[in-house]
Amino acid sequence: MSSFKKGGIFVLSSPSGAGKTTLVKKISKNKNFSISISHTTRLPRPNEKHGKDYYFVSKNQFKKLIKKNEFLEHAKVFDNYYGSSKKLVVQKLKEGKNIIFDIDWQGTRQIRNKKLKYELKTFFILPPSKKELLKRLIKREKKNMKTVKKRMKEFKKDLSKWKEYDHVVINDNLNLCYKNIMKLIKNKKSLPIDKNFTYKHVKKLLV
Ligand code: ADP
Ligand code: 5GP
Repeated sequence: MSSFKKGGIFVLSSPSGAGKTTLVKKISKNKNFSISISHTTRLPRPNEKHGKDYYFVSKNQFKKLIKKNEFLEHAKVFDNYYGSSKKLVVQKLKEGKNIIFDIDWQGTRQIRNKKLKYELKTFFILPPSKKELLKRLIKREKKNMKTVKKRMKEFKKDLSKWKEYDHVVINDNLNLCYKNIMKLIKNKKSLPIDKNFTYKHVKKLLV
């Protein structure tokens, strides 16, 4: 019998723009799945709502939350602070819910190191090509090229973290990618990554 408690932790990370937020939202529509809504000091995008997409807080508020040990993990990403609320996550896990995280590699490392008594599966999402990634970022950031450039600058470093994850999935066709992830989430045995294939794809992305 598994020594894990009932709820599970599923983490999605990727270079910015690969589609993890879109995927996390799709996964959360399944029964018993719930998103860990992060706190951030980043300004909201036009379509984002406080309490739904993020808890938008000031730097001071964020620092106070760190001091009060309110975060399960937290990190500085692209000049802003992001963190996952311990209280919200633990409460849902205790109810037997599966929690999906849209967090970066720094936060994933922190959660992995905590060795919680819940099943943990981590997914690294890759774009089909660098050109498509750029296209997606430009669309999402409404052509704000300063933000797009900042995110593309971190692309290479973010990409190099794929080896730390249980699964690597390419987000070309959104529905196919979603179905793949759900299959991997439901599969109780962890399937090994096809490292050769992933190395080749990553090499292509770096050109
Ligand atoms: P991330 O959270 O990884 O930064 P988002 O989920 O915000 O990325 O997606 C970036 C943009 O790409 C969004 O405009 C989203 O609608 C779009 N997108 C996501 N997945 C796909 C896909 N498979 N094909 C085309 N566009 C996509
Ligand atoms: P965005 O500003 O595009 O919403 O997110 C920027 C990056 O911050 C993404 O890589 C996203 O996964 C990450 N992120 C969002 N919330 C958290 C969080 O709570 N903790 C950590 N470590 N990273 C987060």
